[in-house]
Parts: sequence; structure tokens; C-alpha cells
Amino acid sequence: MLRLIIVCTVLFATACRETKSPAKADLDKIASDYVRLGLSIGEYDPDFVDAYYGPDSLKPAIAKATVFPRYIFLKEVNDLQHKLSAFNSLNTSDTLYLRAKWISRQLEAFAGRINMIAGERKSFDTESKELFGVVAPHYDEAYFKKLETQLDDLLPGSGSVSERFQALANHFIIPKDKIDTVFKTAIAASRKRTLAHYALPADEHFTLEYVTGKSWSGYNWYKGNYSSNIQINTDIDIFIERAIDVAAHESYPGHHVYNMLLEENLYRKKGWVEISLYPLFSPQSLIAEGSANYGIELAFPGNEKIEFAKNVLMPVAGMDTTGAGMYFRALALRSKLNFVRNEVARGLLDKTMDDTEAMRWLIEYGFNNKETAAKSISFINKYGSYVINYNYGLELVKNYVESKGGNRWDAFAALLSNEIILDGK
Ligand SMILES: [Zn+2]
Repeated sequence: MLRLIIVCTVLFATACRETKSPAKADLDKIASDYVRLGLSIGEYDPDFVDAYYGPDSLKPAIAKATVFPRYIFLKEVNDLQHKLSAFNSLNTSDTLYLRAKWISRQLEAFAGRINMIAGERKSFDTESKELFGVVAPHYDEAYFKKLETQLDDLLPGSGSVSERFQALANHFIIPKDKIDTVFKTAIAASRKRTLAHYALPADEHFTLEYVTGKSWSGYNWYKGNYSSNIQINTDIDIFIERAIDVAAHESYPGHHVYNMLLEENLYRKKGWVEISLYPLFSPQSLIAEGSANYGIELAFPGNEKIEFAKNVLMPVAGMDTTGAGMYFRALALRSKLNFVRNEVARGLLDKTMDDTEAMRWLIEYGFNNKETAAKSISFINKYGSYVINYNYGLELVKNYVESKGGNRWDAFAALLSNEIILDGK
């Protein structure tokens, strides 16, 4: 039977497909096994499962083993990959074909992460390829030096470019007692701007919390049923523009909206169970972080970000707006330098850079102060090549949305509502 199918597939694929095409139910079964496997791996790696809102029946029924079952998990990945190949060799539906391909790509990331949990370390580029499906472009020091000169021309005063930038930025730190009001105002504005384009589920909601002791500045924990818990880290000074960035990135139209659109369109309407699991170290994060960052520009295009900061947020924060125009021009130039974090992470992971050199790059070319530079290094130590999702992911999402032409919100919604693979090709 097996041999007959293989011959059929190779020689008479079209004819065979008419009579042998597998059903959606076959792929649903593989998808359930994919989720079950992901949840089992998550027992051993607390960062593996970022969100899960699928059925309880797929959660591990037995307690985790004392030793990480690396090879059992790798075999399960392999078995599922074979089932997906077999499925697609007979399948005739384009939709199911792409769905199977998407699960297969996610499984490649499972294998990469399983090996990392077992202690294996790869080069930065190999790791990002295995986990997120892409290799981010390389930029040398000369590239960043050249961009730095543009800021040199803009910023007044004496001292290094980085020192002059910090002196300007220090006027725009949100007072601690105003953080909550400023963030709530920023989130309300990004929500309103998103609702002008999307009909979100009527019962969607989020909670907002302030935390400390984290390596990130904000986090969206998606809970299912169209709800999120958004956490803001108040360890270090928060600059005014970060309120807009974090609001749009974590909530509207960023992570909260992305997760809701997937839940509504794929899980609730189509019953695609695989989407109820969000494995953090997977190509899904390339789209999640890239779209969350693109969402800032989408919700606050052109001058709207500075106008909103100047006219709404700064008054709410009790901040003097003198120099705000120059500050936001400097921020726009600095954003071109955001690939510096990739180079630092690549250097640290590949051991071509030590912490001192990493700090120098982050301060000199990333225009971080010492506090934020140290935070970046602690983020890299925990999340490795994940950093590429923010900048290279943004570039890929921007290219995707803008290559579609027409209304950017519509193309963005399509990206956020489907299983799409962005591979930079
Ligand atoms: Zn994010």
C-alpha cells in the first residue's frame, strides 16, 4: 500500500490526488500532536510556551522526567515531520498545504530549541536560522560610525555624540508618579487608532501591571479569550517615546491584537488548534515582534508620534516640551542604528566580543545609557538571537505590508490573521 502510494505520488500525482487526498481531520490530528509536544517541551523550559489557550486535554498528563528527554522529543519532531510530508504529498488543498508547511517550519524550531535546552550552543546565525527561520544582515562598525555622524551634525553641545544625545534625552524621562497615567493615555490612543480600522472582539480586554527585575521593558502575556496581561518594567528610567512604543507594541495594534486575530480567525472560526500554542522560540516570533514594532508606525505615522507626544503625553507627564522636536528627530536617526543590538548579540554569542566591548557598542552606536545598555546585555544573555525579531522582523513585515500596496491596515490584518512564513526571500 505504501509503495503504491509512493509510485502514485511521483508518477501520477494529479490523478491520485483526486481519489487519495487526505482530509482536514488528518492534519488536525497532526496539529494536536504538535501542540501536545510543544506543551511537553515547555515542562522543561519555562520560556518555551509563551501562550496557550487550547484544550486542557493536550496538556501533559504525566509529571516531567528527572532527565530532559532530548532524543525522545527529537524523534517526536521527526515523526511529525514525516507525517506532514506524507500529508502534503497527497493533499490537494492549497490552504491545508500552507498550514502543514507552517507547522513543519515551527517544528524545525522545536528541534533547535530542544538541542539548546540540552546544552548545545550554535553560532548566532545558525541559531536564528533554526529558531526563527532567518539570518539577519551583518553590519560592521564602519556602517554604524557613518550613521552616527548624522546625529553628530544634529545634536548641539560638547562631548561625544552619545553623551549629547543622553543630555537631550534626560529632559524626557517620565516622572515615576506619572508613569501609570502616561501609559494608560498612550494605550487608549493606540487602541482608538486601531479600532478606527479593525472590528475587534466585543469582549476584548487587557490588564496593566508594573513589574521590576526583568530583562525586557514590556511584555504581553496573552491569556486567550481575547485578553492579555501587559507588564511594564519600571526598573530603569522610561523615556516619553517609550510609552507610545510600548503601548502600540504590546497592545494595539501589536501583540494583543495579533494574538486576538489569530485566536478569532484561525482557532475559533477554523478550529486550527496549533495556533492556540505560541512557542516563543519559533518563526512566529519574527512576525510577532516585527509586526508589533511596525504597529507603532502604523498607529502613529509620520509626524503623528511627535505631535501626540508633544500635545498629549508630555503635558500629562508635566514635562517641558522645549527641545521635543530635536529629540524626536534624533530618535528617528537613532532608529536606523537599531541593528547594533544584533551585532552585539552576535559578538557575545560567537565570543568575538566581551561585555566591555558590548557596552561600548551599545552606548556609542546604540545611544543607550549605561542602564539600558546593561539591560540589553541581560536580555541577550537570556534570549540570544531573539533580538533579530525586533529589527529584522520589522524590516520583513514592513516589506511584506508595503509590497501589497493599497491600505496598509488591511495588509497588516491579513498578516496577523494567517499562518504566514516570512523568510526574507
Ligand atoms: Zn514584543
